Amino acid sequence: MQYVVLNNGVKMPMEGFGVFQVADPAQCEQAVLEAIASGYRLIDTAAAYGNEEAVGAAIRKCGVPREELFITTKLWVQDAGYEAAKEAFQTSLDKLGLDYIDLYLIHQPMGDYYGAYRAMEELYEAGKMRAIGVCNFYPHVLADLCETAKVIPAVNQVELHPFFQQENAIKLMKEYSVTPEAWGPFAEGNHGIFTHPVLTEIGKKYGKSAAQVALRWNVQRGVAVIPKSVHKERMEQNMDIWNFALSEEDMAAIAKLDLGHSEIVEHTNPEFVKLLHTMKIH
Ligand code: NAP
Repeated sequence: MQYVVLNNGVKMPMEGFGVFQVADPAQCEQAVLEAIASGYRLIDTAAAYGNEEAVGAAIRKCGVPREELFITTKLWVQDAGYEAAKEAFQTSLDKLGLDYIDLYLIHQPMGDYYGAYRAMEELYEAGKMRAIGVCNFYPHVLADLCETAKVIPAVNQVELHPFFQQENAIKLMKEYSVTPEAWGPFAEGNHGIFTHPVLTEIGKKYGKSAAQVALRWNVQRGVAVIPKSVHKERMEQNMDIWNFALSEEDMAAIAKLDLGHSEIVEHTNPEFVKLLHTMKIH
């Protein structure tokens, strides 16, 4: 496992475990326990996933010291705003049963996220969060925040996989010293990724699966990954990417798979924006 040093000196694992769509508390707790036993140290949850309590239960039971874990959670759209963000952060802390968060992210650039970010800067300076960042900040949104923020976001978590590579967005993140982190590193299973011929053929050379090649490709271009699986053997497989390296030729072959757009979400579609504003978590 490799670590990346964030722009404030904090070390973050380059690979973590995501728990989106693991809503059942018992299943979520079990999955996080198995992930930690499989070597994951970063857990990525969100207030909107409804599973912070289950993640917290696993953290308490796992036997790994808190300081060896890296816990990420996220502020939902409904709580964008200075006061609301402070309250929402405390709710997340309480649900997780923690007294600090390693990385707190704005989930979507919607609502009064500037007010929320100011609250996060204060909480960060008070030592409640080891790092702060954002998600789904497309280049123009990220540039505007970075030009005005007191604390440059440490991470921008965006959709990044072989079919939506966003090289220009990554270039801008690097310019501002923002670490890119991939959500949906398997494109949420779309595009036949797990049996894709290009990824499968490359994997054969190293005795690795298409899934492992997809993850390795992202980490080799400096992108942290947070794959999700509720199956232990897949968690282990997904973690087993630190003992091989893709060649320049492999990286170039994968570069050709880029479609240049997402087929999962449409952030610029007003209907999508309206939908997220209707999603209430309390
Ligand atoms: P993903 O990790 O791209 O894909 C998960 C899917 O792949 C699941 O159906 C899983 O099935 C399957 N899978 C995992 N490993 C596999 C393997 N080795 N072989 C075959 N199938 C495999 O999708 P994601 O969960 O959307 O993204 C990962 C994390 O990113 C999330 O959990 C969440 O923490 C974060 N995220 C953030 C945002 C945001 O807006 N910030 C948005 C989406 C996601 P099983 O579980 O059945 O194994």
